[in-house]
Amino acid sequence: MTQHVLIIGRGGREAALGIKFRDAPSVDRVYVAPGNPGMALLGLTSVPIAENDFEGLIAFAKDHIDLTVVGPEAPLVGGIVDAFEAAGLAIFGVNQQLAQLEASKQFAKAFMARHQLPTAAAVVVRSLREAQTQLQQWQAPIVIKRDGLAGGKGVFVCQTMTQAQDRLHQLYAEDSAMPLVLEEYLVGQEASVMAFFADDRLVILPLSQDYKRRFSGDAGPNTGGMGAISPAPQFTSEEQAAAKRLMQATVTGMMTDDMRGCGVIYMGLIFTAAGPKILEYNMRLGDPETQVLLPQIQEDLYTVLTTLMAGETPRITLNGRYYLTLVMVHPQYPGATDRAVRVKIPEPKDLTSDIWLPAAVDVDEAHLLTSAGGRVVDVVGCGATLRDAQLVAEQLADQYAGELAYRRDIGYHAFHMEHA
Ligand code: AMP
Repeated sequence: MTQHVLIIGRGGREAALGIKFRDAPSVDRVYVAPGNPGMALLGLTSVPIAENDFEGLIAFAKDHIDLTVVGPEAPLVGGIVDAFEAAGLAIFGVNQQLAQLEASKQFAKAFMARHQLPTAAAVVVRSLREAQTQLQQWQAPIVIKRDGLAGGKGVFVCQTMTQAQDRLHQLYAEDSAMPLVLEEYLVGQEASVMAFFADDRLVILPLSQDYKRRFSGDAGPNTGGMGAISPAPQFTSEEQAAAKRLMQATVTGMMTDDMRGCGVIYMGLIFTAAGPKILEYNMRLGDPETQVLLPQIQEDLYTVLTTLMAGETPRITLNGRYYLTLVMVHPQYPGATDRAVRVKIPEPKDLTSDIWLPAAVDVDEAHLLTSAGGRVVDVVGCGATLRDAQLVAEQLADQYAGELAYRRDIGYHAFHMEHA
């Protein structure tokens, strides 16, 4: 009960990590940089240092911290892990080389091709002319992807060739030499699988499913994520085993390419009629999937991660319960917002468990929690079945939403399949 942990980030994922470390027997202090004003309610200490201020973070970690854990992708892609390691500090997250699997879709596509990992057929183009030539050999629907990090806004599913042409014109008007990935459109149910890893050692977490669209029935614009479930009972044990094999094949490929390090591998999968295919890699925990994954793990998270980093493969035991998170958003999200809304503070009993997680919150002059926009607070329901978890999450949302908006159908793919 002596270790100090620093979490980099400020959202619901970082609040979930914070609670997991707060409750870990070997940890007695959890800092979050920069955190948010709601985190103090959870017993976490926010430190006002930005995610991209590596020097400031290193100086703080040198004095106070035993292990740093990185939440979001931007500092990973920016080289925070390389910087901490150069300073001799323990940090859990991928280095810049491994982060390329998330930061560049063409890098990820080349990696998957090299290691025969199943993914959508794709081609990289670098000009409008090249894209149009390629397009002649494809049929709609077609998927167009920006190469770099786009915060979930870089993927365009085009139902017709006209839509694809329009999109290409629009993108090449921004930058006439932009690399784009043109990709075959795949049909199937999506799932995410995440693993903690160090070199080729893996701790694979259960499947989860997130709901990206803003409105019920998967309508409306894409968001950072409106909710998630885990485990995802609609996937068969064969599908789960296939996901694990793909994770294993991914680290084997990483070793072949001499891409060593530690952190998180997140595979976005789609189960097509021709088998599972990898839609994308993210090299960090998902938000909001983390909120439904971490509570299932019974072990001390500090011990799990440090054991992995020390060269062994820890075993984890899951508690066998189902989790469902609802992301409560500013009513104008994901559009521009023109007013702040009040955020309700939970009763003390709800602050001791992992069911109310503050994300995009501020504090006003009267010391009340507000939000100017974004994904504001996550509530997490837990139960013996997914239905039970949903009931709990909805009760919490009714209690704490206030002016915030949320989707009432999170998990519907699973319910639909269960009753099919
Ligand atoms: P990505 O960031 O590559 O995972 O794409 C974001 C979302 O776009 C995915 O979760 C899918 O819903 C959709 N998507 C991406 N690629 C494809 C594809 N090849 N076929 C169908 N849908 C796709």
